Amino acid sequence: MAALAQSLLASEQDAERRTEARYPTQDPAELELLPGSGEPVYGTVLDVSRSGLRVALPQRLDRGQQVKVTLHGNVIFGEVRYCRAVSGAFQVGIRIQDLVRPAGRVDQHIADDPLSLFAVGKGLSVPEVIAVREHLVRCETCRARLAHQEALLNPIRRARPGRLLG
Ligand SMILES: [Zn+2]
Repeated sequence: MAALAQSLLASEQDAERRTEARYPTQDPAELELLPGSGEPVYGTVLDVSRSGLRVALPQRLDRGQQVKVTLHGNVIFGEVRYCRAVSGAFQVGIRIQDLVRPAGRVDQHIADDPLSLFAVGKGLSVPEVIAVREHLVRCETCRARLAHQEALLNPIRRARPGRLLG
């Protein structure tokens, strides 16, 4: 019983990893360690997914550290999940917890094209990924549209339609 539950959980986690697209970027970001100590840390965002960012930084950060990331006028609050030393610098994985958009943006439903690109995992800029992601949190309609797109992209996870007789 436990083994079955465990293997179900494992395959669920696999599915999650597979469907979470990562968008590669080379965008500059400014990090602040929270609670604020003053000095910002400048880094480069290496990729963005729906739930997190991977940032290259000149210094090590502790796991669990709360950070504020300023990226294209968006402010992202998150928590450091890991920190790896990579060729003289550090790569930090940050789980996004909250996001504040620049004021004055009109909140519209996501258009079909960016929604498909979001589902496929390429072709969007970082601000677009952030905007789509943020809209999805608040819009059930667009979440349903995205789920539909993803079902089309991952036909294995769907029941096959019955074959016509003949
Ligand atoms: Zn919407």
